[in-house]
Amino acid sequence: MILAGTSTDRLDITAIRLQFPILSRMVKGRPLIYLDNAATTQKPQAVIDAISQYYCGYNANIHRGIHTLAEEATAAYEDSRTALQEFIGAASADEIIFTRGTTEGINLVAYTWGRANIIAGDEIIISEMEHHSNIVPWQILCKEKGAELKVIPVMDNGELSMPAYLDLLTTRTKLVAVTQVSNALGTVNPVKEIIRAAHRAGALVLIDGAQSAVHLDINVQDMDCDFFAFSGHKLYGPTGIGVLYGKKELLNHMPVFHGGGEMIKEVTFAYTTYNELPYKYEAGTPNIADAIALKSAIDFIKKHGRNQIRQHEAALLSYATEQLEAIPGLTIIGNAKEKASVISFIIKGLHPQDIGILLDNQGIAVRTGHHCTQPLMKRFGIPGTVRASFAVYNTTEEIDALVAGLRKAIKMLS
Ligand code: PLP
Repeated sequence: MILAGTSTDRLDITAIRLQFPILSRMVKGRPLIYLDNAATTQKPQAVIDAISQYYCGYNANIHRGIHTLAEEATAAYEDSRTALQEFIGAASADEIIFTRGTTEGINLVAYTWGRANIIAGDEIIISEMEHHSNIVPWQILCKEKGAELKVIPVMDNGELSMPAYLDLLTTRTKLVAVTQVSNALGTVNPVKEIIRAAHRAGALVLIDGAQSAVHLDINVQDMDCDFFAFSGHKLYGPTGIGVLYGKKELLNHMPVFHGGGEMIKEVTFAYTTYNELPYKYEAGTPNIADAIALKSAIDFIKKHGRNQIRQHEAALLSYATEQLEAIPGLTIIGNAKEKASVISFIIKGLHPQDIGILLDNQGIAVRTGHHCTQPLMKRFGIPGTVRASFAVYNTTEEIDALVAGLRKAIKMLS
């Protein structure tokens, strides 16, 4: 068990908490207990500083300027790309496309690769636990092209049915798009196995890394995924910035996404030739400040160690599971063998939203509702859950406060 105010073998949680200014604020007269990290994580001072240093010190547009500020901004932006390449184990920085986040990354693939490669009768496989971001773009594409969207079922324990997945793969399967970690259940999916089977069937694979990039050690080459999308704000970075990774040979041959400045080599009224990777997919002035600050978030994770963070979060998850299971009437939704930092539950006779409001009155931030996974909620026959999700700065004392808050809420609502 890890106690707040003490150090684990490797992580000094008290010192880590001090790096997050927001954690010292009060909510409704109580110290904030932030357990909504799967929605977005809080930001360390280094990330906040990186944004203000850019605007105070070297704000300029990138790539086109020859003056000092433009050169400094360009260097910092490209340094961040290189840090991200290393962070996910990509072979080249050209494979790192800055996006607004996971949603934009998935849409980019659906609009470019999808529209160039999917024809009537083709099949795209997703899973029953996908976030709406990894459902709707494929649904739009399939409708437009006359392709079929097939869905891997989720079992009662919150794991994907792998035999069902293998049965869904056919020679017409062109793409498999699945999440590595479920934002609603915490399930960690066996993506390597999923990718291997898809490749054997001749299909490409897009991995939604929105929840996994912060918790797991990601190596896209070892995983052998074709695309990997994630968001900066879920890994201690700013909102409005994310990454789409794609294998170079695929990105090189895909049509462009947005048209405009930066993504071109030459423009005439007769024709336009496009820029090299990665600029081909980065039309217009990008989100420079947040791209730069994302490197500070990566540095924060690297400094504390992904494995150490994972160990701390795993200890929190197992402690929370044990404590929550002891509450009468509480059912945890999703009991996969491998989970990451998310615990979703319902309480008999109580609406998740009412519980969320009463917890907020005690300064405890959790998420309630369908978590942008309506088909998954339907699968479990529930309108939504209460979700507590953990980050490196959370403590067992905070989980104790959650449990006490829940007991109080149950008493008030029953
Ligand atoms: N995929 C998953 C699994 C998510 O949890 C989320 C966000 O909650 C998304 C995709 C979408 O991420 P964003 O809103 O940052 O684009």
